Amino acid sequence: MDGHKKSDGSLAGLSARALRARRAQLLARLPNLGGYLGGSLVEQSRRCGKPGCRCAGGDLHGPYVYLSVGKGGGRGGLVYVPAALADLVTERVALSQSARDLLGEISAVNLELLARRELE
Ligand SMILES: [Zn+2]
Repeated sequence: MDGHKKSDGSLAGLSARALRARRAQLLARLPNLGGYLGGSLVEQSRRCGKPGCRCAGGDLHGPYVYLSVGKGGGRGGLVYVPAALADLVTERVALSQSARDLLGEISAVNLELLARRELE
């Protein structure tokens, strides 16, 4: 997922003390991970399959919202998101992405500390 690494050239210029302070700031910004939800939202329109239905002529039903989740966990694929939960799931997916970004930044700080033998 996390294909691109942020080139944190800025970190190299910071003291170990400043790096630890930055790490504490990042940590404080982490959202409550109890709401963590991996995956990304996609919309799809569907054919119901009933003969004579408008969708048979190309006027599809939807769009419906799905959560696209990676394989691996055994529950890969698309998970239907009921309309009543779409706002909540959208919020949780965005929150989860920001959590991953923050963890990536914390990791970058720790890697810098490691490279300096300052990781504690
Ligand atoms: Zn139909």
